[in-house]
Amino acid sequence: RDTSNDGLIRQLPDVLANKIAAGEVVQRPASVVKELIENALDAGASRITVRIKDAGRTLIQVTDDGCGMSRADAKRSFQRHATSKIRGIDDLERIRTLGFRGEALASIGAVAQVELKTRRVEDDIGTLVQMNGGTMETHRPCATPAGTTISVRNLFYNVPARRNFLKTPATEMKHISDTIYQQALAHPGVHIELDHDDRSIVQCEAATAQDDHERLRFRIRQLWTEDRAATLLPVSDASSYLRVWGLVAHPERVKSTREDQFLFVNDRAIQDRYLSHAVRKAYGDWLPDKAFPFFTLFLELDPERVDVNVHPTKAEVKFEDESGIYGLLRSSVREALKTQFTTPQFDPCE
Ligand code: ADP
Ligand code: MG
Repeated sequence: RDTSNDGLIRQLPDVLANKIAAGEVVQRPASVVKELIENALDAGASRITVRIKDAGRTLIQVTDDGCGMSRADAKRSFQRHATSKIRGIDDLERIRTLGFRGEALASIGAVAQVELKTRRVEDDIGTLVQMNGGTMETHRPCATPAGTTISVRNLFYNVPARRNFLKTPATEMKHISDTIYQQALAHPGVHIELDHDDRSIVQCEAATAQDDHERLRFRIRQLWTEDRAATLLPVSDASSYLRVWGLVAHPERVKSTREDQFLFVNDRAIQDRYLSHAVRKAYGDWLPDKAFPFFTLFLELDPERVDVNVHPTKAEVKFEDESGIYGLLRSSVREALKTQFTTPQFDPCE
């Protein structure tokens, strides 16, 4: 019998499968920055520095002082679906880390030239791993400070379609700095720096205050201005399973152009039009049409009540009780704004 007709389906080689999967996770230089910072945060870093060259085309380098990796783990970290963060199906229901799919390094390693240097504090010598378009070229001991440095060079060098579709350096840098701003707001206790072509873009000292609102105000002062930080109003409320807190713009200090709006769920930045609308609703008639208030709001809830595994870059999440969250978000922001307008007839929401 001629077996050449047995079928057409072939298992793809790993290098090709990783390259295809990379298209989902790594859309642009900012996606790499996001994944590497999330790994640094998951590793318990207290200091993260990001160096960019050529808006991320030539170099994206992230250095952290986190837990580092063993020699064996350094090698495994580039395998697809290889992670230290979950073990079984139950863990997927209660994720507390930013990563869990074990896909980022495999994807980045497939579409760039990547150098990993890592060392755990307890090890005398660290490890160097070099990946080139999905193939491991080096895995050997190397002297390096405790923590991890990942250097991603020539992103998409082997995916011409992606490389050619990168936007202008200014646009790609805007995406990168947006990512840094999100992470910096969510982690005020971590020292974060961003350099572009050897110029300092962001320099954030770690906040030392204990109070959440004070820490956030401190960060906002570093990222924007003293004036913005000083005029924001505190939001703070809780229900049986949800805590809402953060800082929102004073209604009279809102510009009519689109301002920065940040929403976090368990310290993960998310996009959610429905919940952003809840905040807009809270301002009611206090705001002119087409005005977008600055806000930085945090939702904290039991991880079992939110599914973070619904979007390739985890930019969107799915809540068990979306309308309950909408309600508390709206009422908590409204309460914060009301403190500014004590005379009842001024409240357009009632
Ligand atoms: P995930 O974050 O989903 O686990 P990644 O591909 O991003 O998957 O990383 C794979 C693994 O490599 C992580 O689970 C972690 O154990 C290790 N790792 C990656 N980056 C770092 C880092 N900066 N410091 C320490 N360990 C890291
Ligand atoms: Mg990760």
